[in-house]
Amino acid sequence: MSRNQRYTALVLRVRPQGESNREAFFLTAEEGILRATLYGGPKSKLRSQVAPWHAGRLLVYHDPVRDSRKISDFDVESWKPGLRELYDRTASAMTLAEIILAAQGGGGGWEQALALAGESLSALEEADENEAVFLLIQFIWRWLDFLGQRPSLDYCSSCACEYPPDGVLWYSRYEGSLLCPSCAHSPRGDDYLELSPGLRRWLGIADSIAPGNLRRYTLDASLAGQARSLGSAIAGGLLGRKIRIGEI
Ligand SMILES: [Zn+2]
Repeated sequence: MSRNQRYTALVLRVRPQGESNREAFFLTAEEGILRATLYGGPKSKLRSQVAPWHAGRLLVYHDPVRDSRKISDFDVESWKPGLRELYDRTASAMTLAEIILAAQGGGGGWEQALALAGESLSALEEADENEAVFLLIQFIWRWLDFLGQRPSLDYCSSCACEYPPDGVLWYSRYEGSLLCPSCAHSPRGDDYLELSPGLRRWLGIADSIAPGNLRRYTLDASLAGQARSLGSAIAGGLLGRKIRIGEI
């Protein structure tokens, strides 16, 4: 039986391992998150190919006895150099990769996960500072759905009442739920984030359009602030640490 396995893969993270090797984490269509060792010094050709956000065909040698994986080849089909040209693009892409890595152990639908990530990263390559933040929020909102953890924009998570179209909703950081005004108990301290009807509409649109078209749907300053807070709260919950999206 061949021990070389082929994958359609996106590089999420690369870090040093020992003196001259590297440890790479991929999102693959076949098995989800995959960790493999990259052998070779700074001059190795593979080393320049296996870099964050490169995507292509990966060949991995699996040693079943030691259960170790070694990168044999990586044929890059998409380099995404634009992600390194602007700090905000890089920052959004790094957070996106971190969020995907946090889903380790989640099962199934990896082809869809790869498509979601690929679409957002491609749009990020063209984004300005502002757009980079909203593309990340869009990705987070879609990723939450992929994980099966996204609250409904139509019904209260607690009492299941249908929201009026012009009603304000409240997002609970601790529960990760969206609540109607009667279920979001007063006083609404730091636990609750306001979600105005305008942001609700934007989230609905962001869910249904390709990331490349998101720039057509801008938010005013107040809604943009709400979107940042919501994105930060959701990402913080997924990553298990405090995070502020769109702030250096
Ligand atoms: Zn309710």
